[in-house]
Amino acid sequence: MNTTPAIEDLAAVSRSLGGRSPAEILDWATRRYSPGLTMATAMGAEGCCLVAMLASIGRPVRVFNIDTDYQFEETLETKARLEEKYGITIERVHASLTREEIEAIHGPDLWKRDPVACCRIRKVEPLRETVAGAAAWISAIRRDQTPDRAKAEIVEWDAKFGLVKINPLLAWTWKDVWSYIHTHDVPFNPLHERGYPSIGCRPCTKPPAEGADPRSGRWNGERTECGLHARG
Ligand code: SF4
Repeated sequence: MNTTPAIEDLAAVSRSLGGRSPAEILDWATRRYSPGLTMATAMGAEGCCLVAMLASIGRPVRVFNIDTDYQFEETLETKARLEEKYGITIERVHASLTREEIEAIHGPDLWKRDPVACCRIRKVEPLRETVAGAAAWISAIRRDQTPDRAKAEIVEWDAKFGLVKINPLLAWTWKDVWSYIHTHDVPFNPLHERGYPSIGCRPCTKPPAEGADPRSGRWNGERTECGLHARG
């Protein structure tokens, strides 16, 4: 039986959710897809907001963090603080190969020589394996982050991973994110207060220059996406 939802149905649902708050969108998503609903988070400020909202809704969602072997200690500490505050478990998922096995095949510091391959092995493939069998996944992207993300819909078919993708924060700004964090006392990554608006892996993340695009600190400004959210 083909369980792929019709693209037109998703577009209609997406339009009907336009103007709803992220918490209302998550409420709809959990009613429709839990327990087949999953969420990936790298513990950025946006993801922390979504974790807090899901905790208050209380329906089952598999929340996971892709452990690339290169996450900041502060990111892992943020994960622990979210788990403690909301009484949840954020699963750590890994590439199918260990760091040693990846280095034996590709050599050391793959991120330096071929970041596209490194992200594929350490992020894209683990996500693909983790969401296999799920009905939908939640992301924390915002439209104002990149021109590519500006084309996203609240609910859309993710052809790359073969399931529905839900983007509750599309209409939010960076200011909206921080307003929610402060109002609801949500734990967040302290690196945000040290000049890192966008936080990924240690070797590929730097604070952007003053006034520069917030994502320009990723991959030395040479890329804006690791492949999880790239369209097309
Ligand atoms: S962000 Fe850098 S270290 Fe992390 S998976 Fe991608 S290339 Fe590798």
